[in-house]
Amino acid sequence: MTGNNEAVAKRAQKVLTPNYRQQPVAIARGEGVRVWDADGNEYLDFLGGVAVNVLGHCHPALVKALEEQARTVWHVSNHYFIPRQVELAEALLEVTPWASRAFFCNSGAEANEAMLKLARKYHHDLGHPERNVIVSCDDSFHGRSLFTVTVGGQEKYRQGFEPLVPGVRHVKFGDVAALEAALDGTAAAFIVEPIMGESGVIPAPEGYLQAARELTRQRGVLLCLDEVQTGMGRTGRLWAHEWAGVTPDLMSSAKSLGGGFPIGALLASEEVGQHLTPGSHGSTYGGNPLGCAVALAVLAELSGGVLEGSREVGARLRAGLERLAAGGRVASVRGRGMLLAVVVKGVSAAEVMKGARARGLLVNAIGDDVLRLAPPLNLTAAEADLAVERLAAALAAAPAKS
Ligand code: PLP
Repeated sequence: MTGNNEAVAKRAQKVLTPNYRQQPVAIARGEGVRVWDADGNEYLDFLGGVAVNVLGHCHPALVKALEEQARTVWHVSNHYFIPRQVELAEALLEVTPWASRAFFCNSGAEANEAMLKLARKYHHDLGHPERNVIVSCDDSFHGRSLFTVTVGGQEKYRQGFEPLVPGVRHVKFGDVAALEAALDGTAAAFIVEPIMGESGVIPAPEGYLQAARELTRQRGVLLCLDEVQTGMGRTGRLWAHEWAGVTPDLMSSAKSLGGGFPIGALLASEEVGQHLTPGSHGSTYGGNPLGCAVALAVLAELSGGVLEGSREVGARLRAGLERLAAGGRVASVRGRGMLLAVVVKGVSAAEVMKGARARGLLVNAIGDDVLRLAPPLNLTAAEADLAVERLAAALAAAPAKS
């Protein structure tokens, strides 16, 4: 790390809680898929704020929406009706036909927290308080609140925070028989990511979501889809569950929803959504005019041809990454649309990430052998090709694993 990057890092390490493992780069500015660090080095940003900057950095339509809203009204709370919030709910429900109620919050964890609380309350209101168990998948990730780390399937995020929330059961992702066994008379909901993002971009096996829908319907259990990472066009359709042709009872969204402005949402069917009764749940900032104005602009851009374009460039990017296998250091490429993982072999993902960064490409190493790529949906073919070129160079230069 040099100069300004290093100075920022030193100050950060003195004053911030040490919970993040930061790379030695301080991002000072962004435009489109490109960012510049505090020393003026330029990068292609293929992490995108962890699958958030769905239209890249400082997209003019989003900047305009934010500026206009900032001059109108910033925040009023849900003690009053918020026109922009109503507009956003209408726009989201219009493109999500199975849903007819929306609740807004500020992040993915909060959207999931609301989803899980509502699942329990639904059964409670129906006279079945014994139906309170949340069934979830091993290795899944649903956020960092106590309820969502308990529901998430990764032990490392729970350690030291015990006692955890009771009433949570884990099953193997993709195992229909295990799910069937877990959905007994105490199960309230099954929560699942269509593609497990944080644990390495692992798509649900063919037929799994359909089987989960069938089983949950038969057993009176709510199907909760966590589309925090996969939603808002990330996989080439607005919601990833559209590929599977299933509809959930509840769904969470965040990340790409605000394109970089913090906002989360819970979408619900009419039958379930009405159980979030007056006073039962809330959020001071939820559905704040600034976040809603930006999310409306994101949605308008996605509907205006960006999704179609992302499918084309996403396919080109994937094909380019698959060609890297010829170099002998790529085992496979998985994921969908603009949420992809390159599984490496013979080299460490962290080393490749470091080498890519030195060559002007930001990607994210997950575990020992996965690199996650989540570029913006409006990526150009030339930018996709350049990223593949830089990754190829980083792969070739990485030290062999001993
Ligand atoms: N759910 C999924 C699938 C996620 O990938 C994430 C974040 O990575 C979350 C929930 C939590 O979102 P947030 O960090 O906005 O609370």
